[in-house]
Amino acid sequence: MVFARYGTGKHKISMGVVLLMERNNGYELDMGPIRPPNEGGAGSLLLRITRNCHWNRCSFCPFYTGEEFGIRDTEEIKGDIRKVKKIGDMLEDGSEELHNVPYHSRSIVHGWLRSGARTVFLQDSDSLVMPSDKLIDILVYLKEMFPTIERITSYTRSDTLARKDPGELREIREAGLTRLHVGLESGSDRVLELVNKGVTAGVHVEGGTKALEAGFQLSEYVIPGLGGRELWEDHALETARVLNLIDPDFIRMRPLVVNPFTELHQLRTSGEFTVTSPHERLREIRVMVEELDVSSALCFDHFLNGWRGKNGSPLFHTSFAGYRLPRDKELVLGLIEEGLQVDESMHLDMRKTNITSL
Ligand code: SF4
Repeated sequence: MVFARYGTGKHKISMGVVLLMERNNGYELDMGPIRPPNEGGAGSLLLRITRNCHWNRCSFCPFYTGEEFGIRDTEEIKGDIRKVKKIGDMLEDGSEELHNVPYHSRSIVHGWLRSGARTVFLQDSDSLVMPSDKLIDILVYLKEMFPTIERITSYTRSDTLARKDPGELREIREAGLTRLHVGLESGSDRVLELVNKGVTAGVHVEGGTKALEAGFQLSEYVIPGLGGRELWEDHALETARVLNLIDPDFIRMRPLVVNPFTELHQLRTSGEFTVTSPHERLREIRVMVEELDVSSALCFDHFLNGWRGKNGSPLFHTSFAGYRLPRDKELVLGLIEEGLQVDESMHLDMRKTNITSL
């Protein structure tokens, strides 16, 4: 989750919106504010099919505060797909009409086509909340327009997955949606309640299991530090327990930073939530990794994993492929021990970090 947002509530301006300010002649592409870093690394085309978040109540999340949720009209989405196609054709022909295409639309389409037009990420926070027949219609249309596409991915929520009919999930998978990114955040019911995630550990397990049974690749996002000093151990143990039951393809670590525009910040200010230190978080991750019994990739693919090794370089590698479990379990535990030997002042410390754009 990497794009910056500026301001608060209704006055927030995302990078995407800043770019849209130069809109003209109907070639602008509607884009949301966030996508997983590995989709950026893959040069994925961002196609917005819903806007904002229908839950929008997680106490740590600043992304869509004050923004209204909506499912985009199918014809409008197909119109964006046709725009990408048309801009691509113009780029190939060197058409004069290109002067009427906003710079950002040109550069997005150019970059995507140059990388082989192989991957697409559907925005915003939960594409599966769209009626299945509409989503399938869009997936089929997208693949018809761009037969080079190999991978289409999206965010979704565990409760949305848990509610979906298994047959519909399989149809969506067969229509071309290949990978789902789910914000597990924690497997602890106490932590999930604290941060108002709106799901229980049981729903996480049900949703994740259904996604895998339908044939999706599954990325589960974990937030080290989300239990604070008060619930860290429950957070570590229960998260490992839930991940063991799901056994996702990827476990992606996104350490907590408390954004000042969130409810969690208010809990922090009132003394009900204590942000943990870099060493406390390493000890938390150690407990979690010791308990993990999965065949997943464990990924530290975000700059917030800012621990340092003895030589001052990043403690964990940031590859999107991550460490393979169980093979690399001892390696990861060894790195954690190394990080605990390094003075805390060398690590990125979320107690002092003032980042508002995660
Ligand atoms: S974390 Fe995800 S589900 Fe929760 S409010 Fe933010 S975007 Fe919505």
